[in-house]
Amino acid sequence: MSEPCSVCWRHCAPPEGGRGVCGGRQTVNGRVVSANYGQLTALALDPIEKKPLRHFHPGSRILSVGSYGCSLHCPFCQNHEISMPAGRIPVRNVTPEELAQLAYQLKEEGNIGVAYTYNEPLISYEYVRDCGKLIHEKGMYNVLVSNGMASLEVLGEISPHIDAMNIDLKSFSEQWYREVLGGDLNMVRAFIREAVRTAHVEITTLIIPGVNDSDQEIRQMAAWIASLDRNIPYHLSRFFPAYRMKDQKPTPVQTVYHLADVAAEYLEHVHTGNC
Ligand code: SF4
Repeated sequence: MSEPCSVCWRHCAPPEGGRGVCGGRQTVNGRVVSANYGQLTALALDPIEKKPLRHFHPGSRILSVGSYGCSLHCPFCQNHEISMPAGRIPVRNVTPEELAQLAYQLKEEGNIGVAYTYNEPLISYEYVRDCGKLIHEKGMYNVLVSNGMASLEVLGEISPHIDAMNIDLKSFSEQWYREVLGGDLNMVRAFIREAVRTAHVEITTLIIPGVNDSDQEIRQMAAWIASLDRNIPYHLSRFFPAYRMKDQKPTPVQTVYHLADVAAEYLEHVHTGNC
């Protein structure tokens, strides 16, 4: 019998050699550990605004890396080829030392550090932690782009090394998080509440027509974020059809602009994306 995984609410306890629901963690010697440690599926030097972060070193670029697997199963996932790999996906093995060296070499091209992104980085929090230490030793920054569905124990492991985060708040419906995404809204809220105490945090909501595009839901989320800090930047992003929601229409641009006005009644910095 293996010890259950402590990363997210599912507490998977796969048999020896088996994988958890996220596909990125595996039982080895009775413990659930990262199976995708250092296995990169994507690596790019991106503008920091693409993470999106608008209030952390604007105009800079950041080496962005991702692996495979995710603790959520969103039917609208824009990165489903790597977040929910059905079969084998090509990977490049990169040790923390190699990643830190590469990040440092890219300084000349405007790189300020490493962003852990694309799939859910916290299912391999061990890699984020180990790389993060080395990146800081080189005087560079670490950025986390996460769904926020991880325990405070995991946050405690990585937070000494993380300078900025963009965290998704996909909805304010506990039922939708649980039944459609396979997540836990309370875990996400607890993660955000704690993260803002240790790092620069910006929050993103993807606006999906008929799902989370009501004034009421945006008001609830914006008011809750403001209760933490009115200065937390909030990004409202336009949905485009993807994965299992290819038959839906994109969010009307006017809807996103209108909801940004609603959120701005509560928050100082509201940004629209993909418009
Ligand atoms: S991180 Fe993965 S293995 Fe761990 S509890 Fe969540 S889904 Fe299961």
